[in-house]
Amino acid sequence: MKIIDIITKDTLSLSFEVFPPKTEMGFDSVKSATEEIAKLKPAFMSVTYGAGGGTSKYTLDIAKNIKATYNVPTLAHLTCVSSTKKTVDEKIQAIKAAGITNVMALRGDIPQSLEDADRSEWDYHNAIELVRELKEKGDFCIGAACYPEIHPESANQKDDIKYLKEKVDAGVDFLTTQMFFDNNLLYNFLYKIREAGITVPVIPGIMPITNANQVDRAIKLSGSFMPQRFKSLVDKFGSDSAAMKQAGIAYATDQIIDLYANNITNVHVYSMNKPDVAEKIQNNLSDILGK
Ligand code: FAD
Repeated sequence: MKIIDIITKDTLSLSFEVFPPKTEMGFDSVKSATEEIAKLKPAFMSVTYGAGGGTSKYTLDIAKNIKATYNVPTLAHLTCVSSTKKTVDEKIQAIKAAGITNVMALRGDIPQSLEDADRSEWDYHNAIELVRELKEKGDFCIGAACYPEIHPESANQKDDIKYLKEKVDAGVDFLTTQMFFDNNLLYNFLYKIREAGITVPVIPGIMPITNANQVDRAIKLSGSFMPQRFKSLVDKFGSDSAAMKQAGIAYATDQIIDLYANNITNVHVYSMNKPDVAEKIQNNLSDILGK
């Protein structure tokens, strides 16, 4: 089932993100964690693509398993920046052969080793090239990334939104946002992209922070602004892992409730292979989901 046909409902639904194992050894434990999440019957599950593509086989294996065993629609992520046309074509054909119709088209982070390389030699420079290729090669429902606090490489939001519009116009069906911890940032972003003529559905991405160490990593990765309310919570509970987890899940739940109160009906949770976190968020919303 195509994600674009799932996310048009007026009621609140959640989707969960999982990531593939880095090695064959980790496969069984990741498989079982993702199955626990699939049993919660989210609207769909997305499976990330390891930076640089090293874990790409597992992305597809996990996505196929979730779809076949639990009948949960899946979204397979695919990155292109450090790949050749040939390898990307092979991945696209493998996605098709696996019967997966939803693909998240991403550029991927530029590996540090390639930062100073001659980019004119590269087969891919931005996600738009992958979007065009997917559009040409299959009947995919195509998702892409967007950044309410601008992409870290962008000089300013005006340019970021200009390139986002070009990417969407190339054939993107929906967007998923980078994590954010202040919903007002999302509301401002939505206002600006709608003004710029971007009309596709935008699925906000919410990251439940469940331990204090995650905070620095999240800021580094996304450049996200941490509101004082969130910082106080980490100050108070950061050294008590159980309390921090409960507080982080409550904070994420609160963000989701506020989003839905503002008529945003589909929320993507960066559940990171943690079935207990996904389940607690779902339970916290049990009288709200589907309404
Ligand atoms: P792009 O859309 O290409 O944008 C990257 C930068 O280039 C932006 O600054 C943009 O403004 C600029 N730009 C775009 N087009 C042009 C142009 N024509 N000319 C000049 N500049 C341009 N990474 C993974 O490795 N695996 C994953 O599974 C994964 N999943 C993700 C899911 C989501 C929802 C998000 C938000 C991110 C994810 N990432 C993932 C991280 C992502 O790969 C990085 O953020 C990456 O740096 C940018 O990818 P993009 O697809 O947004 O790139």
